[in-house]
Amino acid sequence: MFREDLPSYDLDGKVAVVTGAGAGIGLEVAGVLGSAGAKVVIADLKKEAVDSAVEKLTQEGITALGAVCDVSARDSVVEMVKTVEETCGGIDILINNAGVTVPESPIFEVTEKAWDFVHDVDLKGLYFTSQVVAESMKEHGGGRIVNLCSAAGIMTPKYVSVYGAAKAGVRHLTGIMAKEWARWGINVNAVAPGYIKTDMIKDMLANEKNAEVVLKSIPLRRYGEVKDVARVILFLVTEASEYLTGLVIPIDGGMMA
Ligand code: NAD
Repeated sequence: MFREDLPSYDLDGKVAVVTGAGAGIGLEVAGVLGSAGAKVVIADLKKEAVDSAVEKLTQEGITALGAVCDVSARDSVVEMVKTVEETCGGIDILINNAGVTVPESPIFEVTEKAWDFVHDVDLKGLYFTSQVVAESMKEHGGGRIVNLCSAAGIMTPKYVSVYGAAKAGVRHLTGIMAKEWARWGINVNAVAPGYIKTDMIKDMLANEKNAEVVLKSIPLRRYGEVKDVARVILFLVTEASEYLTGLVIPIDGGMMA
């Protein structure tokens, strides 16, 4: 029988803030959400990256606004949210994508500086960006938050202790935020990518032998593309996923199966 209530993937009228959208996965997510009709805010640390992302998306016919923002500094996030509220009225969608990592190393060699660098952005940044934006969503009738976790936050690979611990924290927070904010109509989910071809893993891929070994651990026998992540995130911010919250979806070609 013909169903008339199929979910819409139309984001017309929605405002989406994507952190770290100056490059990689974030830029593609902004492009996909923008193509679905959302007004997208490119929030990134680097001004040049913000400007070139806005220019690229605008040329594609997407309504994109730029905001230089350091997610590791709560004041910077407050400033960004204030500007978005003034220009767009409110925020419907937050993609907590900004993230950094450090080269793999044994725990004995990890410095405090490396720990702080990663945890300030990946965990503290995500925590306070969510806090500030959810406060705004609460006032505007709800919203959707998608956190970028990682396979490294679920599995326990050797030598990835700093990044892995931050992403395990993201996984944990996704459940807590989902429970605390459900009453205000805010759904919080996460995606956990495996290996996605961006600058973040270019050094790993440059080592051909290593890249070959990793490839063999991926049942679908290919590295992920940024669109593989962006499409699942699109699902998580549309009507189709209305009844999902607190979920962490692996996007890893079957690596964690
Ligand atoms: P990327 O390095 O290509 O892009 C990251 C973006 O975040 C950059 O534009 C950078 O300027 C921005 N950024 C860094 N620090 C910031 C800060 N303090 N404030 C605002 N913006 C900041 O990385 P990517 O591969 O696109 O990763 C995006 C997200 O996906 C990250 O959270 C990452 O941990 C996660 N992830 C990536 C992979 C992968 O294989 N690429 C796998 C699992 C998870």
